[in-house]
Amino acid sequence: MKDIKNLTRDDLKEVCISRGVPAFHAQQVFEWLYRRRVDDFSLMPNLPVKFREYLKTAFCFSQVKALKKEVSSDGTVKFLMGLPDGLAVESVLIPEKKRRTLCVSTQAGCKFGCKFCVSGLNGFKRNLTPGEICGQLLAVEKETGEKVTNIVFMGVGEPLDNFDYVMKAVAIFMDNRGLEIGKRKIVISTCGFVPGIEKLTESGVGLRISVSLHAADDKKRSQIMPVNKKWNTGQIMKTLKKFYEKEQFAITFEYILISGFNSSEKDAEALSMYVKGVPHKLNIIPYNPSEHFDWNAPTGDEVGGFVDILKSRGVFYTIRRGRGADISAACGQLKAQILPGA
Ligand code: SAH
Repeated sequence: MKDIKNLTRDDLKEVCISRGVPAFHAQQVFEWLYRRRVDDFSLMPNLPVKFREYLKTAFCFSQVKALKKEVSSDGTVKFLMGLPDGLAVESVLIPEKKRRTLCVSTQAGCKFGCKFCVSGLNGFKRNLTPGEICGQLLAVEKETGEKVTNIVFMGVGEPLDNFDYVMKAVAIFMDNRGLEIGKRKIVISTCGFVPGIEKLTESGVGLRISVSLHAADDKKRSQIMPVNKKWNTGQIMKTLKKFYEKEQFAITFEYILISGFNSSEKDAEALSMYVKGVPHKLNIIPYNPSEHFDWNAPTGDEVGGFVDILKSRGVFYTIRRGRGADISAACGQLKAQILPGA
């Protein structure tokens, strides 16, 4: 049986048409699923009886379950999300004034093996389906009773390496008969997966994009991000320029500052030069240490010295303090797990 929550509203319309019922029933199914959160076709009385009977035989309802919840002293909440096959990924809810941002995972494990990130330590397991990606939001809203307002694709995995499913999930998040999250409230974060950035540009969906840069010098970047050997910083910039030409809004660069590795004056200069290639926002993120790697967080002086150079070069930046660090929910601390007994 297929999971009904893998379908966008357009997919559902095709189901309607193939069954000979009017396409507007797709809208009703969507409202039941995402507004009223009904997971039972028998409880959708406005659908024709025969169509309902068909849906029952053809589709099931995916279940992403919040298995564990850890609350940080700063209000950030990390969830362990159980998937139907016994795998689990993490999602993080970051409340901030009126905003409730959910950081979602897109893959169980990761193929890219960045040398500072725990997500890929146990290799890659599989892509998450659209139902499992959106299911993280449904599970969080069920737990908390409050609406998620923003989505960041910054959990486990590389979203652009699971392009088709992520784009279906985006369509479901954005649907005005369902979750209604605006396109500018969705951020796709990428390690610099160039073919994916190209596809995102072609799609013209208008999502925000954030690039995990971490070094502007190719030799250094390749040392910590093997993906750079395939698509280097020059290729990334070329692709981002095209993205900007089409979308006309600033690209975000993330730069984790690792003590003694990418925090020198020369690194800051290279970064300043690089980001000027395209209208941008720059986030400097002090590295979140992990027992799995030998890197250290930068000292206050290191951060200060680094940003002084950015300032002197006329580059604007924000320093992002890791939210949820006390519960290992900060950037790059999220994992994929296999549940015991699964
Ligand atoms: N694959 C995507 C999505 C993962 S997002 C990407 O690379 O962007 C996770 C973000 O956390 C990325 O910017 C990643 O580089 C960053 N990150 C990973 N490990 C980190 C750590 N230990 N401290 C701070 N940021 C980290």
